Amino acid sequence: MANIVFTNVRIFDGTGEMPYQGEVQVQGNRIQRVARGNRTIPSNGLTVIDGAGATLMPGMCEAHTHFAWNDQPTLGSIQKMPPEEHILWCAHVAERYLSRGFTSCVGAATAKPRLDVVVRNAINSGLIPGPRYLAASQEITVAGGLADETLPHLPFQELSFGAVVSGSEEMRKCVRQFLKYGVDTIKLNLSGEYIAGLPAEFTPMTEDEIATAVQEVRLRGKRLSAHARSSESVKQCVRHGIELVYHASFADDEALDMLEAKKDKHFVAPGIAWLINTSHHASEFGITPDIAKQMGYHRELEIACQTLQKMRKRGIRILPGGDYGFAWIKHGTNAKDLEYFVKYLGFSPMEALLSATRLGGQIMMQPDELGLLKEGYLADLLLVDGDPLANIAVLQDPDRILAVMKDGQFYKTPDVRPGRSRLGLSAA
Ligand SMILES: [Zn+2]
Repeated sequence: MANIVFTNVRIFDGTGEMPYQGEVQVQGNRIQRVARGNRTIPSNGLTVIDGAGATLMPGMCEAHTHFAWNDQPTLGSIQKMPPEEHILWCAHVAERYLSRGFTSCVGAATAKPRLDVVVRNAINSGLIPGPRYLAASQEITVAGGLADETLPHLPFQELSFGAVVSGSEEMRKCVRQFLKYGVDTIKLNLSGEYIAGLPAEFTPMTEDEIATAVQEVRLRGKRLSAHARSSESVKQCVRHGIELVYHASFADDEALDMLEAKKDKHFVAPGIAWLINTSHHASEFGITPDIAKQMGYHRELEIACQTLQKMRKRGIRILPGGDYGFAWIKHGTNAKDLEYFVKYLGFSPMEALLSATRLGGQIMMQPDELGLLKEGYLADLLLVDGDPLANIAVLQDPDRILAVMKDGQFYKTPDVRPGRSRLGLSAA
């Protein structure tokens, strides 16, 4: 059983308090003790890790994760990977998230029915390394909606990125099937998306279809998430109690009022990296800034930034992460989102860090034991070379993530090469 003390660290505890010099003891999978100053915690019999002034903070949470997206440029090409390769890909990617400091991830949709569930179970059983993970269904859509990739002459579900339904009973059957597989979250595509040739402000799912999905999910005590770019789709989320609202770019004042009134229930994970990079950094894949502008992405980015700034002021919970795994926003670069929150959405570095830590514990449904560096909490910790409050970008550099601990176990152990004096690992 782990019995470790981190000494000589700057503690960012996720409560909103400024970092302080101190020590942290981990026993088993929990944080046993947090102390200010040095040489406060007796180190007899403990493994002592001298942080040499590095920052010790809670592990980060990615709130809108798609392990199954395989760095392709289109939805259709993601889906073409055969299932055997695809599950290996997901396992590989899961480990990458953990290595980059994401100790929790919220699955936001997978590409084949059981990929997310199988990976979550393999992580939980210790078969593969990965973050704490909540598994999602495929995107459920209506015929002609986002992720219906079937072709007129090839109407096969297996070729479609999303699960396509028409009408309440088809919805019920589809949702029940995913719940049977063991998903934590059912994903509904409530709005369009320009890259799929559908306006972002298109809202094609009927109230009946949504209500049926919600009814089935509630019977099993699970949650829902939604691709919701249009204002109407955000309102559908609030009306139907869909907890996880993805994107929300075009939410108007009425939608924001509704969200604010239920802000203890909902989380927004905008996936802002998608809008920024599709607008400006996808030329290599045929989407030049001019083309992105014609598609509508520049306008959406501008409006989304305004909307999210308003949300932030209203105290609506906004979390980083989202839609990494496309050709131009690769898995593992997710900590970029924190920088985007500061640059584009008006967050302070402190707020951005809290959204990745404290709010992470909340979206993982473990607010009393995850997301803070606090006595009694689960030991999901990062040791970071530098001060993320002074430079939020340090979290993007894998070399500066000196250690990753999940559930009291090191995934990445601090460097103990002889001759390196910055960090010392010794059994006292
Ligand atoms: Zn997404």
